[in-house]
Amino acid sequence: MTDCIFCKIVNGEFGTEFVYENEYAVVFKDINPKADKHLLVVPRKHFDSLKELDDEFLLGKLMMTVKEAAKVCEMKSYRTVINTGKDAGQEVFHLHIHVMEGNIRL
Ligand code: 5GP
Ligand code: ZN
Repeated sequence: MTDCIFCKIVNGEFGTEFVYENEYAVVFKDINPKADKHLLVVPRKHFDSLKELDDEFLLGKLMMTVKEAAKVCEMKSYRTVINTGKDAGQEVFHLHIHVMEGNIRL
């Protein structure tokens, strides 16, 4: 999607540092962290939200990516959040999983 901010980040257009990446997803720090450590796991492929995700295999890979990224970032105890839809607080309409540790405010 050409006007999607997370597609642009995935494509390296902003030079965002990836703390972890694999074939399926990239992981970077949230620009406005709601915890001491706050990562976003973002699939390389665009889906507006979890509602549009129709790929069970990819869903599994994304959850494995959460684990792998948390390990790389030395997160021992963390919360995962997926906001789906505007009323639930979704602001960026490219599926992403929040991964947070310490003083969590989301
Ligand atoms: P949502 O509310 O959609 O579940 O979460 C979107 C998250 O993306 C927010 O926590 C927000 O701070 C983060 N975010 C929005 N734009 C950018 C950006 O350009 N770079 C980074 N690293 N995070 C962003
Ligand atoms: Zn996108």
